[in-house]
Amino acid sequence: MAKSSVDLPDFASGAVWLVGAGPGDPGLLTLLAAHALAQADVVVYDALVDKRILALARAGARLVYAGKRGGKPSPKQPDISAKLVRLARQKRRVLRLKGGDPFVFGRGGEEALALVAAGVPFRVVPGVTAGIGGAAYAGIPATHRAINAAVTLVTGHGTEGDLPDGLDWTALARGAPVLVIYMALKHLDAIVRRLRDGGRAADEPVAVIAHATTPRQQVVETTLGACVADVARAKLEPPAVVVVGGVVRLRAGLDWQGAAAGRVLEADPLRLLPRATG
Ligand code: SAH
Repeated sequence: MAKSSVDLPDFASGAVWLVGAGPGDPGLLTLLAAHALAQADVVVYDALVDKRILALARAGARLVYAGKRGGKPSPKQPDISAKLVRLARQKRRVLRLKGGDPFVFGRGGEEALALVAAGVPFRVVPGVTAGIGGAAYAGIPATHRAINAAVTLVTGHGTEGDLPDGLDWTALARGAPVLVIYMALKHLDAIVRRLRDGGRAADEPVAVIAHATTPRQQVVETTLGACVADVARAKLEPPAVVVVGGVVRLRAGLDWQGAAAGRVLEADPLRLLPRATG
C-alpha cells in the first residue's frame, strides 16, 4: 500500500482494538484495520475472518483462533473476553478481529463491556457489515429513494439457536420495507412463514447471498415463496445474508459483477417494480 498521509492513532501496548474485518474481500478493510494488522502483537480472530486478511498481520504476530472448529462448540464468550483482558495485561497490542462490523451481530459490545469492566483501554474500528456490503457486491443497494426509506437488519438466530424470541415478525412484515437477515439459512422456512403470515406476498423479491465479496460468492435471486426450495437446490452454505424487498429487483440493473462476466444489465430496473412509490 502506498504510504498513507493520514495520521493514524498509535496502537499502544496493553490496549485492545476491536476491529471489523469486513465480509471477506481484503480490499474492504479500513485503513485503521490494516494499520492495526501491521502493528498487533496478537490477533484474536473469528471463523468468518478471511484468510487473506489474516495474511496481512505483522510477521511475528501471534494468531489466536476464537471460533468454532470441526463442529466443536465455540469457545464461551466469557472465555474470549477473559483472554483479551489477560493478553492486554501482558502488555500486548491485542487485535480482536471480527467478520463484518464488530458491533453488528458480532458480540463486539459484550467484549467491549468486559474490557471496560477490567479497566483495559480499547478502541473500536467499524467494518463493512456483510448485510450491506454483501448486498452491494450482489448489485443490491440497501436503500433506493423510490423503494424504501428504511432498512432493517435482523438476526435469524437467537441466543439459544432458535429464531430470536421477542422479535415481532408481524410488525417487521408490516413495517419493514426491506429486511436484511443475518444467520438466516437455518431457520429460513420459519422466517418465510412468519413474513408470509404477516402479509408479505409470495412473489416478494428475495436475494440470498452466500460468501459475499469472496471468490466463492453465490447469489440466488428468488422470491419469498420459492426461496426455501431455491436455496436447497443451489446448495447454498453459510455464511449467507438474505435480502427481502423491492431493492432486490435493482440487481437486474446493478449486478456489476455479473456484468463483468457478461450479464446484460437492464437499463431501467425500476420499471420492473410492480408499483414504485415515492
Ligand atoms: N459482524 C458481522 C456479522 C456476524 S454474524 C457483520 O457485521 O457482518 C454472522 C452472519 O453474518 C452470518 O451468518 C451471515 O449471515 C453474515 N455474514 C458474515 N460474512 C458473510 C459473507 N461473507 N457473506 C454472507 N454473509 C455473511
